[in-house]
Amino acid sequence: MQVRRLTATSLPSLCQEPWERKDIKLALKKAERDRSRARLNEVACSRREIRGYRCTDCGGWHLSSQPARRLRLVAGAPLTAFTTGGAAEAIRTIAAVSGLTGGTAA
Ligand SMILES: [Zn+2]
Repeated sequence: MQVRRLTATSLPSLCQEPWERKDIKLALKKAERDRSRARLNEVACSRREIRGYRCTDCGGWHLSSQPARRLRLVAGAPLTAFTTGGAAEAIRTIAAVSGLTGGTAA
């Protein structure tokens, strides 16, 4: 049995129809309207677009159903570098400045 594999070059190119940014907003609104109408009519909706993104290949805009990639957090300077004391000292300072008093709840 011959298995046909998709390769990057055999995939249809999104760049055949690059959009302008202003069109993306309208297209996303229309997709949301279509989904909303489908929900009301209790029918399936194939619209999945949730955001637009600028294409690095064509410079135009495309729609995507994928959520935006999260920003990757990188390690920074440890917070203790910005405080003179430990956590307890910081809490005491905040309490003194804000007028809060210590003790157990009444
Ligand atoms: Zn493109």
